Amino acid sequence: MPILRGRDVDKLIEPYHFALEQAEIGRREGGVPDGAALVRGGSLLAAGHNRRVQQGDPAAHGVIDCLGAVGVQEEYADTVLYVTRPPCPVCAEAILERTIPVVVVGDDSFCAGEIGLLNSRGTKTLVLEDSRTRKLVAEFQRLCPRLWSADLEGVPDSTGTV
Ligand SMILES: [Zn+2]
Repeated sequence: MPILRGRDVDKLIEPYHFALEQAEIGRREGGVPDGAALVRGGSLLAAGHNRRVQQGDPAAHGVIDCLGAVGVQEEYADTVLYVTRPPCPVCAEAILERTIPVVVVGDDSFCAGEIGLLNSRGTKTLVLEDSRTRKLVAEFQRLCPRLWSADLEGVPDSTGTV
């Protein structure tokens, strides 16, 4: 990835709203606010959200739902994945398997996830510290603390502790 400056960064950040919208949809459905969107050249390829509650599937995280909806792509080199929270080990493996080069994360204040693993394997990550995402997650944590922790079982928290 070349050096990013000024408006380049704005362009990179802009499509984040696709992922946040997905987290909000999931929340409205009574699920865990966890959204993802895969973008190429600023255009949305696919988006998805956590369906743990909706489908009773603990593995149905936002990233998995989104990448499943994308279908098979020949090339991921020019894509950016937007996620509202840091990927868990399973989601991180799915990202690495496809060699998605850039992952933009909404907020990492509630869990660190596998950002370190992604970086160590050559995937660039950018954390937005997005206040809307933080508010959405904080509210969900307050109302459904057990559901949030169950969904992130085995995922490093913001201090790096599993
Ligand atoms: Zn996951």
